[in-house]
Amino acid sequence: MPDAGALQQPLERLYGEFDYGSRVERDAIQFPLRYAAPRDRELVGLLTACLAYGRVDLFGRALGKVLAVMGPSPADFVAAFEPRRDAGRFDGFIYRFNRPRDVAAFCVAARDLLARHGTLEKAFAAGDDDPSGPIRPALERFARLFLEADLRAVFPGGRLSRGYRHLFPLPSTGGPCKRLHLYLRWMVRREPPDFGLWTSVSPSRLLIPVDTHIENMSRAIGLTRLRSRTWRMAEDITARLRAVDPDDPVKYDFALCHKRMSGDCLDRRDAVVCAPCGLRGVCRHWRRRRPPAKAKAAKRRARRSVNG
Ligand code: SF4
Repeated sequence: MPDAGALQQPLERLYGEFDYGSRVERDAIQFPLRYAAPRDRELVGLLTACLAYGRVDLFGRALGKVLAVMGPSPADFVAAFEPRRDAGRFDGFIYRFNRPRDVAAFCVAARDLLARHGTLEKAFAAGDDDPSGPIRPALERFARLFLEADLRAVFPGGRLSRGYRHLFPLPSTGGPCKRLHLYLRWMVRREPPDFGLWTSVSPSRLLIPVDTHIENMSRAIGLTRLRSRTWRMAEDITARLRAVDPDDPVKYDFALCHKRMSGDCLDRRDAVVCAPCGLRGVCRHWRRRRPPAKAKAAKRRARRSVNG
């Protein structure tokens, strides 16, 4: 595996030269980016991240319907949300596991949290007992705020729907929690394309949102050898990136993810596609291949017969 010294220059080059503008419109971040007010961005960011499973164009279409209902200020809409009066306005929304009542439950939980804490950042901070420690306990509490909210107005039996539970993965289950890490990246990182709204959380604590693209790229350039996409993999990759940039380890996420997503990396050796890639020097697909054992033995025999 390449060490931090070998990774630094190619990763910094990728980060510095990446054309963010051309990819933002194909990324889930486009939805919160449409809102200028921090309170709208924070709320739309969370709803977007919760639904960001599957392809952007697919969940984006469903999310677009919800945002159209919410109007120019989703934060105002949620603050005034009354399930009996407003839940029916989401009829027609459907995205894989999620149905209109899941969106209504999101609105109720967010409304009550915002009424109690003022902002989602403050709600997060209230469960962040160790602001210089690992992010996991705070993220667990944040997700639980939504799962343990009083949602009887939407789920009268008190039993949450599978779709609603799917919106908030829990770190304690060991999954990578990609969508929660993605939300934190948007809110916390100070440089574009991220928003830097949550100044109470240090970017140094973030973990990389691991999806299939990040998993592939990370294996290709030696950021992890783990085989399953778990919380441990997110920690493993981030630890390698932290050795490159301790203050902002997940800054490479967007460029790495979109490099693979856009087809600029095929996750295999390809003379044409790989030609302009600055990661070639650390890419396992371009490491000198060892000759197979049989060929080596034949070479040895030939050498011996020449010498003998
Ligand atoms: S060298 Fe090729 S396979 Fe390796 S990271 Fe770059 S584009 Fe991908």
